[in-house]
Amino acid sequence: MINIHVGTGRSYDILIGHDILDSAGEYIRPLTKAVRAVIVSDTNVAPLYAQRVKESLEKNGFETSLFIFEAGEASKRLSTVERIYTHCFENSITRTDIIVALGGGVTGDMAGFAAASYLRGIDFIQIPTSLLSQVDSSVGGKTGVDLPSGKNLVGAFWQPSLVLIDPETLKTLPEKFFRDGLGEVVKYGCIRSRSLFERLENENAADIIDDIIFECISIKRDVVQNDERDTGERAILNFGHTFGHALEKLGGYTELTHGEAVAAGSAILTRLTEGKGITEKGTSQRLEALLKKYGLPTDSERQLSEIIAAARGDKKSTGKSINFVFLRSIGECFTQKLPINETESFFSGSSGSIEYNSLTI
Ligand code: MG
Repeated sequence: MINIHVGTGRSYDILIGHDILDSAGEYIRPLTKAVRAVIVSDTNVAPLYAQRVKESLEKNGFETSLFIFEAGEASKRLSTVERIYTHCFENSITRTDIIVALGGGVTGDMAGFAAASYLRGIDFIQIPTSLLSQVDSSVGGKTGVDLPSGKNLVGAFWQPSLVLIDPETLKTLPEKFFRDGLGEVVKYGCIRSRSLFERLENENAADIIDDIIFECISIKRDVVQNDERDTGERAILNFGHTFGHALEKLGGYTELTHGEAVAAGSAILTRLTEGKGITEKGTSQRLEALLKKYGLPTDSERQLSEIIAAARGDKKSTGKSINFVFLRSIGECFTQKLPINETESFFSGSSGSIEYNSLTI
């Protein structure tokens, strides 16, 4: 059993252990006076794991109920959250009861948001079952849903009381979704850990998955502790995301998974910054080779101008500028704001006038 403590305003533990699902109730019980627990899960994950979690909760004195929604990003919307509220009401959930999010990123984000807002906030537990949610979205307290106008536009910062990670669940994860998570894993290597990047190059990710989960969460924990509300350092977690979100949007959120889009976005960006002499020579070639090794895309057929236009609408953009994270080398990055109307000329090389390196982290 590995324990990572997250010292945010409201602190909590992340426990990593094989078959920890069967002990979920034992770990949750000491943290809460809850009588009832609502397990929120989707149609893919619930048939695999809900029963084990439910039994463990009941063995530890919780009355349980199960809310299951249709799997997929299309469910991550306010109407599903409203159905969770109704379920909570009908099952007499009070302020001291809990929600347990069992599933991938959509489940964690949405169940977390329901917990943040139902009765003005009740406790919740994250049990992430996909690689992406284990290494990334279950840690840090960002919860929310999509609007028709864009992803994650409504939400709240709401830290879980506990995160339980069972690497065994990755064995049932379809290959496509394992790759999806690796897009974020490579990102962590790029921004903060040359040693992680090198292990991904030299070994097979699936063989060292426990170490990978531990390393990624440790990086995210350190960054989130320093910047819980996403006003500074946390921006580095968005490496590859400015272009990535644009590519996801241009593909109607169906062509590319999030991790694939982040992979392509980071490769495109790093070729550009290396071409401008910002990033150490040879970095983009190594990044591309690593992404290809794990079946991730490194390019897009879309024009840079089209990608930049789509990036303007990103919620990470502040008014007149777009925020980027540039690599100096593998494992070292910094954030850079670029004025929207000069972004394309900056990357295409026709403008050398912008001062970069405004903020080094
Ligand atoms: Mg991401």
